[in-house]
Amino acid sequence: MLQGKTAIVTGSTSGIGLGIAEALAAQGCRIVLNGLGDATEIEDTRRELAESKGVDVAYDGADMTRPDEIAAMVKGAAVRFGSADILVNNAGIQHTSTIEAFPRDRWDAVIAINLSAIFHATQAALPFMRKAGWGRIINVASAHGLVASANKSAYVAAKHGAVGLTKVTALETAGSGITCNAICPGWVRTPLVERQIEALAAKENCSIDEAAVELLKAKQPSKQFVTPQQIGALAAFLCSSAAEQITGSTQSIDGGWTAQ
Ligand code: NAD
Repeated sequence: MLQGKTAIVTGSTSGIGLGIAEALAAQGCRIVLNGLGDATEIEDTRRELAESKGVDVAYDGADMTRPDEIAAMVKGAAVRFGSADILVNNAGIQHTSTIEAFPRDRWDAVIAINLSAIFHATQAALPFMRKAGWGRIINVASAHGLVASANKSAYVAAKHGAVGLTKVTALETAGSGITCNAICPGWVRTPLVERQIEALAAKENCSIDEAAVELLKAKQPSKQFVTPQQIGALAAFLCSSAAEQITGSTQSIDGGWTAQ
């Protein structure tokens, strides 16, 4: 159990981040939710999580492209709850295009949110973790942190960068009670992937269901989506005492994608 620990989960208003926040709340963590979206829906999510799990849940709307807001979110969590024990760097966006046609502003946004935000949040959280002599940093990378696909230059570069940063963080904190690991999911059916399924359906002139099967067949041998709940359970394990010697690792959860 992680009773009384404070967990900051970036990009947790939907998808994988919300699955991780739910799993950590179920272990007794106080949660700081973060992400974009409709204010009423976010408040509903916050209240439901707090009531269903019986823990304190706060929301911070820090924009992951803004280093000052990221640092203020981490410090704010420590002031509000007394510590910043667990940091899950999960916020992410996708843009698909050939390198030649890739818009510069999309490159900058993908790198800022999927990679630089991890550095800024980690830099802000480490002093609190060192003071406590305990900490868990989990970076949600991707199968694309280990292997590449065409038309995803910024995403693949950012996710490989996230894996590298995970290793450096692990080395700088080794033996201090702090661990840092990357989770590398394959396809998970979240809003980020739903947009890619819709684009494939339009390109292939087929149904959404057929496009989802095509998407899986191309990369994921299990031909089944990973779920946010499965990733939440893996994150909770990485926070447990059984995982205290797991650091600097990449945890694939990808239905066999990177075994090929
Ligand atoms: P999602 O679109 O459901 O969630 C992304 C979250 O990030 C949302 O809460 C969104 O509001 C937040 N976000 C986006 N831009 C932000 C910003 N500027 N500031 C603050 N928050 C911001 O997508 P998801 O699939 O749950 O993705 C979560 C993470 O998992 C991402 O890092 C993604 O790259 C990674 N991932 C997803 C898959 C997949 O198949 N869905 C696979 C591997 C890795």
